[in-house]
Amino acid sequence: MSTAYLGLGSNQGDRLAFLRAAVSGLAGEDGVTVVATSSVYRSEPVGFTGQLEFLNAVVVVDTGLSPRDLLELVQRIEDSNGRRRRRRWGPRTLDVDILLIDGVEVDETGLTVPHPRLTERRFVLEPMLEVAPDASLPDGTPLREVRDGIGNGHAVRMEGGL
Ligand code: AMP
Repeated sequence: MSTAYLGLGSNQGDRLAFLRAAVSGLAGEDGVTVVATSSVYRSEPVGFTGQLEFLNAVVVVDTGLSPRDLLELVQRIEDSNGRRRRRRWGPRTLDVDILLIDGVEVDETGLTVPHPRLTERRFVLEPMLEVAPDASLPDGTPLREVRDGIGNGHAVRMEGGL
C-alpha cells in the first residue's frame, strides 16, 4: 500500500465540478481510498493567454495499485470527464497528474514520478503543502524549501474546499 499525491487542474467548463468528479471517480474505485483533499486554488494559465484561470487542488490517496495502474486510472478519469488531448498547454476540462508517491521513484517512458513539474509550480506546491506540509523529494529536499525558492512567480488564491 502506498500514499500517492495527485494534482488536479481544470480551466474549462464547470471547473469545480470537474475537480469534484475526479475525487468521486477516485473514491469510487476499488483499491483506492481518498484520505485528504486540499482547498481549491486559482492560478493564471501557463503558456497561453485568453483562457479561463485554472482551478487546482491536490488529492491524497492510499492505494495498492502500481504506479502504472494508477496512471491508467487517472487517465481513465480524465477521459470520462471530457479531457481532449490537444495542444499541450491548451484548455482542458480535467488534468490529473501523479505528483508524488511516498517512497517511490519512476522514470520510464510515459511515467515520471515525482512529476517533473512538481517543483516548478507554485499552484501545485501550495495545495500539496496544505495536505502534506512535511513532504519531501526523494533526495530529501523538503517541498516547503522548494516552494520558498520559487518566490511569488504565480499568484495563488484560495477558493474554498472540494
Ligand atoms: P499532460 O498533457 O500534461 O497531462 O501529460 C500527459 C502525459 O504525461 C501522459 O501521456 C503521461 O504518460 C505522461 N506522464 C508522465 N509522468 C506523469 C505523471 N507523473 N503523471 C501523469 N502523467 C504523466
